[in-house]
Amino acid sequence: AMGYEAFSIEGARPQLAALKGLERLALPPVRRPAGATKESESEGVPVIEFEGVSFRYPGRSRDVLQGLELRLEPGESVAIVGENGAGKTTLLKLLCGFHQPDAGRITADGVDLRDLDPAWWRRRLAIIFQDFVRFELSARDNVALADLDQPRLDADITAAAAGAGAEELVARLPGAWDTVLARAYRGGAELSGGEWQRIALARALYASRVGGRVLILDEPTASLDVMAETALFDQLLEHSRGLTAIVVSHRFSTVRRASRIVVLADGRVAEDGSHAELVALGGAYERLYRLQADRFRSGDSA
Ligand code: ADP
Repeated sequence: AMGYEAFSIEGARPQLAALKGLERLALPPVRRPAGATKESESEGVPVIEFEGVSFRYPGRSRDVLQGLELRLEPGESVAIVGENGAGKTTLLKLLCGFHQPDAGRITADGVDLRDLDPAWWRRRLAIIFQDFVRFELSARDNVALADLDQPRLDADITAAAAGAGAEELVARLPGAWDTVLARAYRGGAELSGGEWQRIALARALYASRVGGRVLILDEPTASLDVMAETALFDQLLEHSRGLTAIVVSHRFSTVRRASRIVVLADGRVAEDGSHAELVALGGAYERLYRLQADRFRSGDSA
């Protein structure tokens, strides 16, 4: 299935016939949105605000989000947590512009996302969803997907790979960066699930080097073990310093590393603070945290 990372290949077909598809993959260059204010044109890291945002999927009888208020400052690392179905992924999809709020608005530097050129806005996002896309392209093109219409800067690709811990795996490939990531190709190679995730992380870091200012990670490292995920998330935060990072993860080893944690419940922000603050609060976060700690002790490394 096509992942939501598909924003980076708008208009492309699910089954991309390797290099033939390259031209269609290219995102338009950052364009000035019609009628945009000075702020919204900025290349900087935006203030993002959810203002009374409500959203319900068509045909459903219940709002997923209901009057949600949330302001994200530039450079914050924010973990979104909540029970299954709380609306975490939906919040990210609204931020990406895949859906529009039924009420309220989402703004970037005060400008409603609906008034921004969608291509321009998406160019400001560097994103990995759970079901990220594996492309039968070279390792280089898999990483530089955000930017295929520009001359590729190897320095950016190398730095992105370093941030994602992907350097060694690329060095081991028969044709290094030129290796097509599919065994069916001559000289191609198959990657493991964990290796693919490192490539996808490198893709997001690369996107952030060429214009992405808000890093969005939805369960980005589900096929890595807990220790590897923790190490990787630390690296990601290190390499994305100054950018806003929003992560959805079920793993508290990752979540607690975010500078700020937002708990979603009943379509709103129920709790908001650092790991220590929310544990001290003794509410929903503390309960979820204890549950997982108990499961660890009983040997289930979920
Ligand atoms: P979370 O990420 O917190 O687990 P989601 O945002 O995925 O929650 O889902 C929130 C609610 O919206 C759930 O009840 C889910 O079943 C429903 N939902 C998610 N996607 C769709 C969709 N495309 N159509 C209808 N309902 C959906």
